[in-house]
Amino acid sequence: NPHLAHQSIAVVGYGITGRACVRFLLSKTANVTVIDKREDLANQILADMPDSAGSISILGFRDDMDLSSFDWVILSPGVSPHQICFERYKSKQGRLIGDIELFALFNKTPLIGITGSNGKTTVTDMLGECLRAAGLHIELAGNYGKCALDLLLDYPKENGDTLDFIVLELSSFQLEVCQSLRLEVATILNITEDHIDRHGSFENYKVAKQTIFDMTEAIVVNLGEDTSMPANQKKISASVSLDNPVANFYLDQETGAVLHHSNSEQAAQALFNVNDMKLVGAHNYINAMTVLAICHHLHIDLCNPIEALKTYGGLAHRFELVSQNSKITWINDSKATNVGACLAALKCFENTHDELILVAGGDAKGTDLHPLKEALNNRVNQLIVFGKDAKQFILLCPSAIVVNTLEAAVSIAASHASQSSAEKVTVLLSPACASLDMFANYQQRGDVFRKAVLEQEAQRNVAN
Ligand code: ADP
Repeated sequence: NPHLAHQSIAVVGYGITGRACVRFLLSKTANVTVIDKREDLANQILADMPDSAGSISILGFRDDMDLSSFDWVILSPGVSPHQICFERYKSKQGRLIGDIELFALFNKTPLIGITGSNGKTTVTDMLGECLRAAGLHIELAGNYGKCALDLLLDYPKENGDTLDFIVLELSSFQLEVCQSLRLEVATILNITEDHIDRHGSFENYKVAKQTIFDMTEAIVVNLGEDTSMPANQKKISASVSLDNPVANFYLDQETGAVLHHSNSEQAAQALFNVNDMKLVGAHNYINAMTVLAICHHLHIDLCNPIEALKTYGGLAHRFELVSQNSKITWINDSKATNVGACLAALKCFENTHDELILVAGGDAKGTDLHPLKEALNNRVNQLIVFGKDAKQFILLCPSAIVVNTLEAAVSIAASHASQSSAEKVTVLLSPACASLDMFANYQQRGDVFRKAVLEQEAQRNVAN
């Protein structure tokens, strides 16, 4: 472990992660300086850490500030390392790392790593349920769940309790400033265009994600995603696929059976049927198979995990059912903050003839929306758009209706749906964009949608 006592350490960004970094560093008796754009943090820090606030220095952030006096600079995931002060600090051999790197330098618990553009939280949560069902003592941490550094303070417990595994959900922002993780097994679920505004290009974003390959013993790959494949194929522990029977875990789309074989000599064994799962959609079936492949790698008997997968109910804002009557179904997929997630949602309607009304828009974060064009014109019956980049959707689909608020989108969708001659109509909020131009976060966007839908449905019931 590196020696942190009395080292001068800057923590940049005082959010949830920054706080965890400060707590951990104080436990190692480091000299901590908090750097943040917000100048008025003294009261906040005093409220958070009344006993040690006096020993923490506070500095305002400027992108040309001189950091050379610090032994270490720890970045929160929301802070881009591509700013002049950090580039300069690093070029002078400064130790510029993220919270996960700091965690990795001290961690002793076996780790499982999940990354990708979409599905990270779902897979992390699903895997957590499956590992618990198998009787293991685990925690979820990283981008989802607890801050990884807090687990170092929590374990081992006073009674000697330790964890069997920590499942880490890792974002590209965390991986970009990390090199010392040692994962037992990891996966890149998929890589589609996202966060181009932060990484500069798709190539840089991909490189940031693929650094996970160097930090893991074994990898679960999705044969349908080239980007999930490591250069060193010896590391591949198992493969999953929706359409290639060569994969170790393969979904027979005709029957819904998940088939498993450990090697090509072995006959495939049917594990369960995806139609017995509560979750729907091809993307969730791939997620489930990935989880099983990870369990298998860890030599876990798959019986209990399979039962857990069947009853797993999913997370809010991810293709979440909000309301349903005999004609209209409303789905909140506010977490679809990029094109890949929206495409995954639209794919769920490929084999139905229901009328589909899509509500989309927000901040496209500099990404190219073109991959949506075909589905918007051929599968979506009516597109309703809002937010900063609404115009980009109009260019792809001129028949789209533009609205100023999400409430207006719900009201127009409701009147379209009730006037429709179709037997069944689905209204799907799957924005393909970030929410920050109009909302605090994707949760608030989903909550506004849910509230508007429930009010709309209540009015309809009164009218009927
Ligand atoms: P992340 O943590 O990577 O953002 P989430 O599990 O929160 O992923 O899901 C984000 C969005 O991606 C949701 O709209 C969800 O329905 C969709 N999604 C979930 N799994 C996948 C997958 N394997 N491929 C594509 N989209 C997915």
